[in-house]
Amino acid sequence: MCRRLISSEKVPAESWNDWRWHIRNRITTLDELRCVVAPDEDETERLRRVVARFPLSITPYYASLIDFDDRQCPIRRQVVPSVEEIEDPDGVEDPLGEVEQSPAQNVIQIYPDRVALTVVTQCPVFCRFCFRKRLFSTTRGGAVRGLEKTIEYIRGTPQIKDVLVTGGDPLIASDSFLERLLRSLRSIPHVEIIRIGTRAPVVLPQRITPRLCAILSRYHPLWVNTHFNHPKELTPEAREACDRLLRAGIPLGNQSVLLKGVNDDPETMRELVRGLVRMRVRPYYLFQCHLVRGTRHFRTTIEQGLRITGALRGHVSGIANPLFVVDTPDGKVPLLPRRGLKRREGDYVVLETFKRTEWREYNPTADGQRKGREDH
Ligand code: SF4
Repeated sequence: MCRRLISSEKVPAESWNDWRWHIRNRITTLDELRCVVAPDEDETERLRRVVARFPLSITPYYASLIDFDDRQCPIRRQVVPSVEEIEDPDGVEDPLGEVEQSPAQNVIQIYPDRVALTVVTQCPVFCRFCFRKRLFSTTRGGAVRGLEKTIEYIRGTPQIKDVLVTGGDPLIASDSFLERLLRSLRSIPHVEIIRIGTRAPVVLPQRITPRLCAILSRYHPLWVNTHFNHPKELTPEAREACDRLLRAGIPLGNQSVLLKGVNDDPETMRELVRGLVRMRVRPYYLFQCHLVRGTRHFRTTIEQGLRITGALRGHVSGIANPLFVVDTPDGKVPLLPRRGLKRREGDYVVLETFKRTEWREYNPTADGQRKGREDH
């Protein structure tokens, strides 16, 4: 793999537009990587230990977005291994305790009415910050075992109303696998909603084929949550992929992760959420980076996340504001910027607006008399 294979101008269009070509030509070894981002000998040697632990995978499409002259390029940072990954004393293998919260094979259940169903352990790219780094697999296809039994478990558990199909990245699987899976899930009367979590529109937009969209559209209500982290990822190809999903009637949400050196500043985040809304992708969550082993160099403080979401409020439209959350083994905890409810003054509460002004809102307590409104 050399640079000629990571440019749409140098690869025949029928190959570049074929998602399977990108999967076949992924950068998965350090030798291939050296051709692309040229780490020096010494760095390459040190990276061997990293890649032995956490495999490498980058699609030619996503590699084509890297600025080769910028070692801090936000695209590069997300997918090119770093020696810092094996220097992380605080990180843990499974920060959300998913292994323990698994009532059946391939199922993670944290909430009473929802489960996450892991169907593959492969992804088109391996994001260096992934909270499921422990599942990275070099096996081709990477489909999990025992899926039939898993489906039977969901069928026999009527409180499950909502199934999130995840992985790995489920859209790395073939159309026929996905169709079989969705047909099985849709045949379960109590499963009301199917959601798919995928980075394909970001790292492999060619995967969102008209055929795939036609399959997905047969299993509504079906939602897709994708994962853009930086405005550089909002390419024409990504926009077209999202448009195809939307035209198939699939609502699109975006879950970003707050990543040091990628998107941990208000301007970048503002540009990202505005761009997403222009593409009709609703910014949904902004996650605090998990305390997962090998991601120390990506972590920022929770206070920084609050500063960024505080800087969005009032400066971008309401639909462009993601909810900042810390994911814990007991579920997501939403955090709001400190502005908002300041104090109560008798029958009024004092609110702070995004302009940092105070507003006294008439709001009597339950047993309060309706008095004083005219005093306001
Ligand atoms: S695509 Fe998703 S599951 Fe796969 S490595 Fe990236 S963040 Fe993890």
